[in-house]
Amino acid sequence: MKKLKPIYAFEEADSKNRMLLGGKGAGLSEMTRLKLPVPSGFTITTEVCNQYYENGKKLPKNLIVEVRKNITKIEGKTGKKWNSSTNPLLVSVRSGAAISMPGMMDTILNLGLNDQTVLGLSKKTNNPRFAWDSYRRFIQLFGKVVFGVNDEKFDHVLNIAKKKQGVKDDSKLDVNSLKQIVNQYKKICNDHTKRKFPVNPNEQIELAVEAVFRSWMGERAIVYREKNNITKDIANGTAVNIVTMVFGNMGNDSATGVVFTRNGHNGKKEIEGEYLLNAQGEDVVAGVRTGKDVSKLKNDMPKSYNELSNACSKLEKHFREPQDIEFTIEQGKFYLLQTRTAKMSAGALVRTSVEMVKEKLIDKNRALTRIPAQQLEALLHRTINQNKIKGFEKFVKGIAASPGAASGIAVFDVKRAIVMGENNKKVVLIRKETKPEDVPAFFSSEGILTSQGGKSSHAAIVSRGMGKPCIVGCSDLKIDYDNNKCIANGITVLEGEPITIDGSTGLVYIGEVPTVEPQVTKDFQTILSWAQNAKRLGIRANADTPDSAKLARKFGAQGIGLCRTERMFNATDRIGLFVDMIMATNLKQRNNILKKLGQLQKSDFVQILKAMEGYKVTIRLLDPPLHEFLPNPEDLMDKIYKNKKGENLTETKKVLERAKELAEINPMMGHRGVRVGITYPEIYRMQITAVFEAAIELAKKKVNAKPQIMIPQVGSIAELNHIKDIYSEVKSEIQKKYKIKLNINFGTMLEVVRACLTSDELVKTAEFFSFGTNDLTQAVFSFSREDAEGKFLPEYMEKELLETSPFQSIDVNGVGSLMKIGIKQGRAIKKDLEIGICGEHGGDPNSIKFCHSANVSYVSASPHRIPIAIVAAAQAKILEHQKKSS
Ligand code: PEP
Ligand code: MG
Repeated sequence: MKKLKPIYAFEEADSKNRMLLGGKGAGLSEMTRLKLPVPSGFTITTEVCNQYYENGKKLPKNLIVEVRKNITKIEGKTGKKWNSSTNPLLVSVRSGAAISMPGMMDTILNLGLNDQTVLGLSKKTNNPRFAWDSYRRFIQLFGKVVFGVNDEKFDHVLNIAKKKQGVKDDSKLDVNSLKQIVNQYKKICNDHTKRKFPVNPNEQIELAVEAVFRSWMGERAIVYREKNNITKDIANGTAVNIVTMVFGNMGNDSATGVVFTRNGHNGKKEIEGEYLLNAQGEDVVAGVRTGKDVSKLKNDMPKSYNELSNACSKLEKHFREPQDIEFTIEQGKFYLLQTRTAKMSAGALVRTSVEMVKEKLIDKNRALTRIPAQQLEALLHRTINQNKIKGFEKFVKGIAASPGAASGIAVFDVKRAIVMGENNKKVVLIRKETKPEDVPAFFSSEGILTSQGGKSSHAAIVSRGMGKPCIVGCSDLKIDYDNNKCIANGITVLEGEPITIDGSTGLVYIGEVPTVEPQVTKDFQTILSWAQNAKRLGIRANADTPDSAKLARKFGAQGIGLCRTERMFNATDRIGLFVDMIMATNLKQRNNILKKLGQLQKSDFVQILKAMEGYKVTIRLLDPPLHEFLPNPEDLMDKIYKNKKGENLTETKKVLERAKELAEINPMMGHRGVRVGITYPEIYRMQITAVFEAAIELAKKKVNAKPQIMIPQVGSIAELNHIKDIYSEVKSEIQKKYKIKLNINFGTMLEVVRACLTSDELVKTAEFFSFGTNDLTQAVFSFSREDAEGKFLPEYMEKELLETSPFQSIDVNGVGSLMKIGIKQGRAIKKDLEIGICGEHGGDPNSIKFCHSANVSYVSASPHRIPIAIVAAAQAKILEHQKKSS
């Protein structure tokens, strides 16, 4: 077996190999090659991380010997010495996987400090306060990361020391206080571990490397990978980067900061970010102190600002992506500590894509593929309805950190937010700051509000990545965790009270403010038009009202792939009629009611067809079982029981009897779809007539309407032909009556397993197919689509029995195979047969990718997902092309 090289110095690594070096390691080595100022260091590869786990969580034998050799090399480059009491070499130990997982894994700073080296640092820098402050930070971080000591214990000691010395700010603590803190911190660790705090830097580094590897399998990292679908082929283990420490906290000629080369919030071409004078990187990232806007660095340190600005443009040109950069200025000397592709809001991604094409930095294909299609959902988020805002009290203002408006009840506790979110309560999480371990609560909250931190704080970055509205740095907000309340501007909000946050302006309102549909910006339209041109797949909408048809069309849908007619029967002005129809005791009575219902359906169809003029509108005949339209039997019984004495309950009792008669043990596999059409042909007859009459009405008005009729739940050609006969009868009756010839396609859904298997028979009658991937998934897995996701599927995913819910993303091997059979057999007989999908999968980027490769004609998705589907379809085509040509 080839012996693996466990460590690469930054200057010797192949920076293209992110899987081996991790993103951070690759970035550091690439910057070193570009001759940018990077502190010396090396990367322990992700392969070593995997060996660590294969060895039963033991570091490979020779690793520390190799680490020592590389430390010696750094000593040579820097002139500093490991474990020296005169000029000590200190390092940071940083995690870094192939894909960025901000804050999910551990990092240790100032490693190498002990009671001797702290004196060396103190002498060398002529700054004892700085040396002791670094030492106390080191013990705190090491204690937390390596030994798992609760941070609050250290904070407690720090707060007492501040009180004792009478200062408010950490930076005002004097040497004596810091020395005492160091001793107390060590004691906290010793008490926790029942051993002495390790003083030898070799031991420190061994423990630290191991802790970073451990953090790869830490709960928060696992959750993050799960939620972001980071599988092993995307990132397999973390690398560890050992980097010479440079200090941003060596006085007022030192600073540390985080910047984006373009605005991560709106995409504007400007260096955006913040820095802190006399501080270490963690202060900025944790949001403990709110940073200064980076534009102010121009005045504070003009030379360093220039270096930063040059580095920004060099890196952006090199990577052809906006970068997220960490820098430190140590006594006027500028260093880069990290560069990575900037995680931007969806709006910023869209704008930068369009602008970078204009700047000729990238081409249109790259502009389209660099946008995670799913993230576009954020652009389709609601915003505050400015016309209805009057009367809502402004509560407080903070920094707008992630766009979109969200309402929910205020919750101040992470665990409670998770529980409430899981119980379908809309929650806005309010915290002073957030930490990586709080991330699970982000998923269950509508939005996040913090009183501290800036745009690059943890809360801001994580929210933006998730597309959740977020406001940070709300410094007027006083949060009282003990009493579950917060106060600002004389107003108190208690836990459970509704608020609204506007992540686009930073404003917080009391109450639930009405919101409006999102606006598609010019840049977004540009992206959508590029995507429309690049894609092969057709994109249609699942829409059953004129409004949703209009919205879908505005978003770029080219037709309706599924109009569920049963949704129309649920409208208040017709549900009564429909119930009467079901209750009718003879055909004559039923037909009379159906006539009225037919008029209502016709006028619905007219409006929808008009909204989609020029495009096909697939109208599906009634699907659910009839009993679903009757009141719930339990409610009826309750009514009968409660009204024992008074009124005449004959009608209620009749409805109950009918509901019981129609009730089924397993309605999802019962008397629904085509089976209803066969047993109650008058219903389908009425619907087919309504479609024809609507088409005739529009034809007379010269509206180019293109309805097509689709039959649900078909499993055999006999069923389909049975309905086709009804269709043909209606057609000839109507053509005779109106003296117009009309061609309305007649097709079938493929959502029953047998339909897929016998598609070669169905195609003889069907003029088009549409896969109902919801029912097909249910049938293929024998998982109830109603219950599975709420019951056992989460555990399946937790236990890695399934990667994602098959109801969300098409199960390519199972459902996909059936689809391929259906397509192959159908097209073998009708070469150009139109085949779509109209299950919820139609808006899911991975499913769209599959549909593209399976040669499906179009996908149909809900209106809000249309732009996502358009971009995902374009990406599928571009990536397929790139794969073929490579
Ligand atoms: C389907 O089953 O995928 C489908 C679109 O039909 P419905 O969800 O209405 O059953
Ligand atoms: Mg279905």
